[in-house]
Amino acid sequence: MTGGLGQASRSRADEPTPPAAASAFLGDPEGNAAYADAIELAREVLVESFATAEGPYAGTDHETLRERLADLPVVPDEGESLDAVLETVADEVLDDSVRVHDPDCVAHLHCPPTIPALAAEVVLSGTNQSLDSFDQAPAASVLEERVVDACCDLFDYPAGADGVFTGGGTESNLLGLLLARDWYCERRFDRDVQAAGLPPEAADLRLLCSEAAHFTADQAAHHLGLGEDAVVSVPTDGDRRMDVSALDETLDRLAAEGRHPFAIVGTAGTTDFGSIDPVDALADRAAERDLWLHVDAAYGGACAISDRLRPKLAGIDRADSIAVDFHKLFYQPIGCGAFLLRDGDRYRLLERNAAYLNPERDDAAGVPNLVSKSPRTTRRFDALKPFVTFNALGRTGLADCVEYVCDLADAAADEIRAEPALELCCEPELSAVVFRYRPDRTDGCDRTADRADRADRTDCSSGEVVGRVNRAIRDELFADGEALLARTTVDGTPALKFTLLNPRTTLSDLRDTLAAVVDRGEALEREVIDSA
Ligand SMILES: *Cc1c(COP(=O)(O)O)cnc(C)c1O
Repeated sequence: MTGGLGQASRSRADEPTPPAAASAFLGDPEGNAAYADAIELAREVLVESFATAEGPYAGTDHETLRERLADLPVVPDEGESLDAVLETVADEVLDDSVRVHDPDCVAHLHCPPTIPALAAEVVLSGTNQSLDSFDQAPAASVLEERVVDACCDLFDYPAGADGVFTGGGTESNLLGLLLARDWYCERRFDRDVQAAGLPPEAADLRLLCSEAAHFTADQAAHHLGLGEDAVVSVPTDGDRRMDVSALDETLDRLAAEGRHPFAIVGTAGTTDFGSIDPVDALADRAAERDLWLHVDAAYGGACAISDRLRPKLAGIDRADSIAVDFHKLFYQPIGCGAFLLRDGDRYRLLERNAAYLNPERDDAAGVPNLVSKSPRTTRRFDALKPFVTFNALGRTGLADCVEYVCDLADAAADEIRAEPALELCCEPELSAVVFRYRPDRTDGCDRTADRADRADRTDCSSGEVVGRVNRAIRDELFADGEALLARTTVDGTPALKFTLLNPRTTLSDLRDTLAAVVDRGEALEREVIDSA
């Protein structure tokens, strides 16, 4: 007998042998032990950094960081011990990272992750399942389906709803508007956008959102080939919620102009104010005019787990699609979001079968097919994180955290109202508090009365001065590593913002930060007015 497997021309001595670096992979008892050591080492380095750091940030500026990191080898020819590499990471990166779990880290929708979710991260990265095909992620695919179903239940979606995990609100909003556009074009213009691209009428497609909506509505319009001019901004009321009569007027105007509005984007929890559009009223308009209602609940979606806060989302079950972020008020490590679709059949608009991933015959057999529901191909098993968190803390455990930070926002707003040097820009609806230091208050101006005699007294109340002082307050607190506040602009004038997510932040922490804002404001105000 000649030929056959294993008898190719190569002699044994010529066979490729695994490289030394194979020891850096799991797969045998030695690999398992090396993995355990590596994770232990990473854990030690991290905890050591947490234990020795003070405040939310060291304050190092970007130029210093660029200079320092410029000398770090990135692709050295020869490696060194993991110990040494992690030591470098600790010194060069961890010590100058934002500490999201610090009680004074109150800037962005950037949460401290739960410990159960961090444990889930270890498991999901270790197993490295990929959700683009069942044969790369069998149990993970089915568990993601279960988690998506549970999320649909949280929002009272009917049977037949579907969804997928996403990298966050940006991706979820794009997916919602993509389906909305293609759904509209199919019915109105008998156009299969997936195959034939945009119809000639596309120049008149419009989507509506409030002026407080997230910028990703504009971005999605761009990415969808409609252009940002297709986004019609609807004014908000005094509480920064979409003004329904303005929405009606806008819809009438677009109809009169012969435009094709195809979607309303409601926001449940605007990024700046936490304000929640009147979703029920939006759903009425969408139903009357046959529009797709997409609700961007990236921030406020977390209300769905709280019996007390849930009514804030009234009507969300009528939305055609929902974006919800788990890496914000659900306390999951980045990235973790979901897109939910009320009528899962509409996913056919995205259908895609690849011979190597999900051939049609698998669909016929009911094999999970998540790649067709997502704009991504390779995709992490991020659904494991909320699964582990929900099961470890219970729905009510997590809801307590959400309720607490909302209560904290109300209490902080009371403090701000009681301090004459501060101005509250909007009543908190969720856990965001937008406010300003007010250089224009009487005693502030009186202190500079001799100068004010000469200069125009309105000088210190001008938007220009208010803006400069508030920006400088935030910059100083950041540079000193004392507190991390966010900045935004309200009606054209810069303002400061707390976004409260950390259940360990107390009112006393916030009082200290507010006192620091006032102290800095008083000093800066003099500087700004003097230099004017
Ligand atoms: C954060 C946010 C987004 C963007 O979500 P990412 O998860 O950052 O992609 C969209 N909409 C709202 C209202 C948000 O707060």
